[in-house]
Amino acid sequence: MSALLELRGVRASYGGITALHGVDLRVAAGQVVALLGPNGAGKTTTLKVAAGVHPADSGRLLLGGRDATGADSRDLARAGVCLIPEGRGVFPNLTVRENLLMMTFTGRGRAEVEEIAFTRFPVLARRAGQAAGTMSGGEQQMLALARGLATDPAVLLLDELSMGLAPLVVAELYEQVAEIARQGVAVLVVEQFAAAVLDIADHAAVLVRGRVERRGDPDAELRAELSDLYLGSA
Ligand code: ATP
Repeated sequence: MSALLELRGVRASYGGITALHGVDLRVAAGQVVALLGPNGAGKTTTLKVAAGVHPADSGRLLLGGRDATGADSRDLARAGVCLIPEGRGVFPNLTVRENLLMMTFTGRGRAEVEEIAFTRFPVLARRAGQAAGTMSGGEQQMLALARGLATDPAVLLLDELSMGLAPLVVAELYEQVAEIARQGVAVLVVEQFAAAVLDIADHAAVLVRGRVERRGDPDAELRAELSDLYLGSA
């Protein structure tokens, strides 16, 4: 399968400290790839490089097979790369409707943005007039995803979607993520704790100290290895 998003030999650093030592990753349209690993492994940095938020020191970034190395976050966003950061990035004091309304900068009308959001996440329609910060963590994550979908992403980068959420809520969210991928989006998901995302991932890569130490199908063998590696309860 040809990759929509590809990182080749990406190295990245903060000051003199190297966070990524040559990371290779490929995500095809319609695929969910899970990038797993312990704290500080470089998972978020990988997403930041893919979104043009942090520069690579070397290596290449390709989008749809085209070289996008060195493109900034605005160019990459225009090309359809959407990063949903850890902590969700919704505006807590704005209502759900206002959070969605802001996404009309994409050129879509208000009705269209709301339709995308409310079709995928009907609960958001019921919460439309509520301040986002007063919703449950799961609902806020839905709003973050809905805002991302309003950009009509080709590549969706999700950072620790499960953070602080109950397992059942996480499973529901990942079902929606799987559905988004089925519609042709290339999805790269970063998680420290792997269980939920492995249920929907097509492929997994395990990052340890800035290097992909293992990659493969998210099967029982990989789960067992992750469990040995660092997860305890994967
Ligand atoms: P976590 O789950 O804790 O977010 P991670 O796998 O996403 O971990 P990164 O956040 O990518 O890891 O961090 C990789 C390395 O880079 C770590 O050693 C971290 O301390 C360092 N690092 C990350 N962000 C910065 C920063 N803004 N300034 C300096 N060092 C950083």
